[in-house]
Amino acid sequence: MPFRQVGSLRIYQFESLIHPDLDQAIFTRRGGVSPDPWRSLNVGGTVGDERDRVKENRHRAFTAVGRDPATIYDVWQVHSAHVVVADAPRTEKSLIQADVLITDNPQVTLFMRFADCVPILLFDPKRPAVGLVHAGWLGTVRGAAGAAVQAMVELYGTHAKDLLVGIGPSIGPDHYPVGPEVVEQVHKAFGPSADRHLHVRNGQVHFNMWTANRDLMEERGVLSIEVAELCTVCHPEDWYSHRGEHGTTGRFGALIALSE
Ligand SMILES: [Zn+2]
Repeated sequence: MPFRQVGSLRIYQFESLIHPDLDQAIFTRRGGVSPDPWRSLNVGGTVGDERDRVKENRHRAFTAVGRDPATIYDVWQVHSAHVVVADAPRTEKSLIQADVLITDNPQVTLFMRFADCVPILLFDPKRPAVGLVHAGWLGTVRGAAGAAVQAMVELYGTHAKDLLVGIGPSIGPDHYPVGPEVVEQVHKAFGPSADRHLHVRNGQVHFNMWTANRDLMEERGVLSIEVAELCTVCHPEDWYSHRGEHGTTGRFGALIALSE
């Protein structure tokens, strides 16, 4: 089972990424200190929750998987395909705008926040090196997942076929009707294969970000991609959903790091 209980926390881990050299987790919303509407393990600092509670929640998350909170590298997530190479833990106070993080330093913990967008974890056990991606519809059509693979290939000499990738919980195709502007962008980005990711249900076009992001990485030679296939709207007991909770909610955390 990909779910694991660690103290009060319920954690999701990709089975194909379980490896002695890797720390990885996607944290459900369970086991934190925040009250409604952020109940309870909210790690988002810009959603109205109190700073001290967010800090305690992040501390619980990191320590549950044996990571020091001081090793964090996080960014201001802006739906881009911009890559940051995190050579060391973040020291600057202001966050860089980016949606792809990579590192080969075991003293760095890559960390991002989610509520419907797609978390993507990448691990090259040979090099070794890791990557983390935040991809909503815009990040998907901008090719953030492909940019992560490309950056690891260029910077670390990763062979795409060695990568172990996990696509985590996010808004599923069942709950993701999109407007014509999104449909147009998907067609622009994916060309003739766009229709594989767009399906009409009850007269509305739905976008499948799981298959779209899988395609972006497979076309760069990635062979091992595990998809959680968990919809954040369908499972409010475990996940925050921006759309499902009408914008008033928290953020769940995703983390990946090489074991120290
Ligand atoms: Zn759903």
